Amino acid sequence: MEVAIKGKTSLPLDEFFKDSYRIEEGVPVFKPFIGGEWVEFPEKRDVYSPIDGNVIARVFKPGWESVDRGLELVYREGRRRARNIPGERRLAILSKIADIMEEHLDAFVDALVVNAGKTRKAAYGEVEASIDRLRKAPLDLRKLPGDYIPGDWDAHTLESEGLVRREPYGVVLAIIPFNYPLFDTVNKFTYSFLPGNAFVIKPPSSDPIPIFYFVKAALEAGIPRESIALVPLPGSESEKLVADRRIHVISLTGSTETGLKVISKAGIKQFIMELGGGDPAIVLEDADLEQAAEKIATGITSYSGQRCDAIKLVLVERQVYKKFRKLLVEKLKQVKVGDPREPDTDMGPVIDSSTVEEVLSAVKEAEERGAKVLFGGRRLGGNYIEPTLIEVEDKRILKELRAYRDEIFASIAIITPVDSVDEAIELSNERRYGLDAAIFGKDINKIRKLVRLLEVGAVYINEYPRHGIGYYPFGGRKDSGIGREGIGYSIEQVTALKTIVYNYKGKGIWEYM
Ligand code: NAP
Repeated sequence: MEVAIKGKTSLPLDEFFKDSYRIEEGVPVFKPFIGGEWVEFPEKRDVYSPIDGNVIARVFKPGWESVDRGLELVYREGRRRARNIPGERRLAILSKIADIMEEHLDAFVDALVVNAGKTRKAAYGEVEASIDRLRKAPLDLRKLPGDYIPGDWDAHTLESEGLVRREPYGVVLAIIPFNYPLFDTVNKFTYSFLPGNAFVIKPPSSDPIPIFYFVKAALEAGIPRESIALVPLPGSESEKLVADRRIHVISLTGSTETGLKVISKAGIKQFIMELGGGDPAIVLEDADLEQAAEKIATGITSYSGQRCDAIKLVLVERQVYKKFRKLLVEKLKQVKVGDPREPDTDMGPVIDSSTVEEVLSAVKEAEERGAKVLFGGRRLGGNYIEPTLIEVEDKRILKELRAYRDEIFASIAIITPVDSVDEAIELSNERRYGLDAAIFGKDINKIRKLVRLLEVGAVYINEYPRHGIGYYPFGGRKDSGIGREGIGYSIEQVTALKTIVYNYKGKGIWEYM
């Protein structure tokens, strides 16, 4: 059965953002913000809605000459200006952006629904999280103070002393994924601008619109025009940008494959790399099975599984396997797939049809190797697909499946029974990713062992992995990335340590005996 779509999609517009686009043939064409102004170019690209594949906007594509001039402005002037704004005023600007986003909340929500295919609830959640992140900026400051090191403890440093302080690197390039285009931009901007960096954004090609709105809000709130740039180049044409020496830090959220390409081109820079994931959930025999099934179903299906922290592997102690499997399938059956604009829809489309094809081919491969589709696996027209649960008992086969080896960025998970905590650890750790894991259960000794041995950046106990606003820091190990995003943590990676040594030799300050 195909999902019914109510009416063609179009982008509702809010006059406040009109600097960032112009209307052509009834469709807004968005302008890059480069060199301190909104600029038009001869070349344009279409932007589609994943809801029905309709063209809802276009984006002017900047030429390199203009990007080069823009980078020069950010590098020569923008970073100095950002740094010279007193910290207290930087905080006030962040708070003003939050106010503006609140005033124009509907425009941000509409852009996320129509351009990213999020349900209204999910879109609203992303805007609220972005506002919350901006308002929590003062908490980042807990990691900014430096150290004082007395010279007393080494014969060569007597009568001297040192300070170790943090200062902004200069220019941060944020490369944004399609799945949280607004929040990821806001988050990276907050921790970069707060200590005084200038900011260049490379938006995702599929859903850049909320980011144009963000830049307008940031300018209105008082960001110097020289200190911010929005460069909508396609990823495949971003090599020069990534390699540019006027960029000091790259903060990328995206797939592991993109991370590898960026690192190989960028040269020596600082990196925050939030890469691929897909998390294991381990269900122990003493878990509250009803609660675990509810949370794991949400962990699999929320935003159609297009989350780095989505659950992709469910490992269940054999004693409760059959009971739990039944409960989980029941929960998945209740997930309503449909037009995300409809209030009762739980799961909207995936971002494009190639993602649907990927799920279908992973399902086919699993079936051919003897795995069983317990639920879903069928396309529901366009970019819509049922949430999918695959059962594999044979661990040798499981480890060969694409759905185990790679990250399929959609609502698809594997379920399998395990005979011990050690087996759950082995199956979790043998995946190349190491973002998060979830454990459901009560036995403190088993939980403690799992916490100790799982090779991941975060463990959620009796909760599905959810990074939220980064109140608790998150980030990956292994192929899942480098560094952490989180309040008070990322700020350390966009600031350079500087040691200052004061020599007072012979000035009579210390009278050593
Ligand atoms: P993606 O295809 O890797 O794209 C991410 C960004 O990188 C986009 O802006 C893309 O531009 C750009 N890009 C692609 N190739 C590039 C290149 N060679 N040089 C410079 N930039 C390049 O990822 P996605 O599909 O948007 O996002 C989903 C991925 O992000 C998943 O793997 C997910 O796990 C990961 N993710 C991780 C976290 C985390 O916290 N670890 C959080 C969210 C998402 P175009 O759009 O123009 O191609």
